[in-house]
Amino acid sequence: MLKVENLKVRYGMIEAIKGISFEVRDGEIVTLIGANGAGKTTTMHAISGLLKPASGSITMDGQDLVKMPSHKIVSLGLAQVPEGRRVFAQQTVEENLILGAYTRRDKAGIAKDQERVFDLFPRLKERRTQLAGTLSGGEQQMLAMGRALMAKPKLVLMDEPSMGLSPLLVKEIFHIIEDINKQGTTVLLVEQNARMALAIADRAYVLETGKITLEGTGEELAKDERVRKAYLGG
Ligand code: ATP
Repeated sequence: MLKVENLKVRYGMIEAIKGISFEVRDGEIVTLIGANGAGKTTTMHAISGLLKPASGSITMDGQDLVKMPSHKIVSLGLAQVPEGRRVFAQQTVEENLILGAYTRRDKAGIAKDQERVFDLFPRLKERRTQLAGTLSGGEQQMLAMGRALMAKPKLVLMDEPSMGLSPLLVKEIFHIIEDINKQGTTVLLVEQNARMALAIADRAYVLETGKITLEGTGEELAKDERVRKAYLGG
């Protein structure tokens, strides 16, 4: 579904991504784990069109994403849940969800997907008329995920969905990611919480200062001595 080949991304003189290749296949949960500053967010932004790569290719179902504007990428079926949530604070929960469907014209389908989001996140349903800026951190995370799903994506990119959440909420969010995947959406997940990410991932890649240093199934990497030492606390 998504194929990244020899991707390089620079910020001025700094090469943040130094030629990485990876893929996400139809139906998978794939995770990219790595420490602060490894280049996870940069990689996500290159895929969603927010950053222009210095070189390399990014394709989705064979279509070149590199030269495509972001809204076109969304309409191809790729949606991003950005780091730090970024919901529209002055809009209600419901308005935020509708905004997530901005590339769609099928009103009945949009209404149906809104109900699906409310099934996944009952808390959002209770708060449908509340301003997003007044939601708790965890609820804002749910809203950002719900909003991305309203685009009806084939592939959803999630940037550190567990950041800043209590352990209990982290568990809930990871369960929901599995549910979203079971309902047919392919997931690319970027996480610092390697333990949880590897537990739900079909396959995983380790990113270290702009390079992929290890790859394997979630299970393989969770058992790998190097991963255990560096990312799972020994
Ligand atoms: P974190 O988990 O801390 O967000 P990350 O793995 O997502 O880390 P990135 O945010 O992708 O890492 O950053 C990768 C590298 O690129 C870092 O060294 C960072 O300092 C650098 N970088 C990121 N954004 C910029 C920018 N706008 N200008 C210059 N350097 C940047």
